[in-house]
Amino acid sequence: MSYISLYRKWRSQTFDDIVGQPAIVQTLKNAIKNNRLAHAYLFCGPRGTGKTSAARILAKALNCESGPTPSPCGQCDPCKKIRNGHSVNVIEIDAASNRGIDEIRELRERTKYTPVEGRYKVYIIDEVHMLTSEAFNALLKTLEEPPSHTVFVLATT
Ligand SMILES: [Zn+2]
Repeated sequence: MSYISLYRKWRSQTFDDIVGQPAIVQTLKNAIKNNRLAHAYLFCGPRGTGKTSAARILAKALNCESGPTPSPCGQCDPCKKIRNGHSVNVIEIDAASNRGIDEIRELRERTKYTPVEGRYKVYIIDEVHMLTSEAFNALLKTLEEPPSHTVFVLATT
């Protein structure tokens, strides 16, 4: 339990907090600023380099009450919910333990629905290389025709 609170406490909360990922951070900031967001991003890097943190900050940037903005306020309701892991718009999937076709089919069903609150749903698929090839093919179909309110962040080591 103490590990989790420490982890949450020290998780990067803004793009400027992320250390060592200048290319990703700049790309995301520009995309948000210029309203040229892609529907899917692939974050590569060893564990603990801020991939999931960057994805959550992206979710805040898109759903912040004063956004979409490269500098989410961190104070409004959507920002707080995302920070505390309570947002329905941020869906984190660990592909290492949910790697089958059924999980991806379920995910595809869910992406059809627009967000109940906020602007975008952000799906973070961690360890995406662990998916079975069948599941990955199903995911690719969704990525090829993504719903407009959806951003996928695929993270892999
Ligand atoms: Zn905010």
